[in-house]
Amino acid sequence: MAANLRAVCVFCASAPGVGETWAQAARAFARELLHRKLALVYGGSQQGLMGVVADTVLQGGGRVVGVMPTSLVQHEVAHQGLAKLHVVDTLAERKALMADLSDAFVALPGGYGTLDELGDMLAAQQLGLHHKPVGVLNTNGYYDSLITFLDHAVGCGFIRPPSRARLQLAADSATLLDALEHANLNAAEPGRSERSH
Ligand code: AMP
Repeated sequence: MAANLRAVCVFCASAPGVGETWAQAARAFARELLHRKLALVYGGSQQGLMGVVADTVLQGGGRVVGVMPTSLVQHEVAHQGLAKLHVVDTLAERKALMADLSDAFVALPGGYGTLDELGDMLAAQQLGLHHKPVGVLNTNGYYDSLITFLDHAVGCGFIRPPSRARLQLAADSATLLDALEHANLNAAEPGRSERSH
């Protein structure tokens, strides 16, 4: 059964990145969310690419929900214009609530935080803890080396091919959201946890 998307969780950088490419791609992704009437769930910051995505959805009249731990509310400067800002105690609670509030997950370019969030959703999907699609927006080849690494991990026997195949990859927003909307995770499930240990 294809995913029925209403809210998409975006993981991305709390920094703007070098040059204009990253913000342009973040705006294009946000516009595609608006076009499809999808709500945005994200980390709640007004900084970096996180702020760019949120501002663009808000300016277009879309719904934006932020989730931020208390410790980061000052540090990352919480966005003041959101439909809802959930303040939680820990980063782990933040990820759990973002996951609960969303129907799919997308990583835009980002650093350690983004990689942690992406890895967490992929690991949980692999264990069958959720059945929501996960995608990576490979803006300007940003994630090429991560994709090469994941294929290397499959070759080494540490990631199972069906698990790798479930990760949706695209360089443009419309293609990626199409793939997430049509992802058939139930059919891809091997009927058991992929981890036998
Ligand atoms: P970054 O990609 O490093 O710019 O971080 C993107 C978002 O992830 C920011 O909101 C960070 O606060 C958050 N973040 C950083 N480290 C972690 C972590 N260990 N777990 C979850 N989120 C994190």
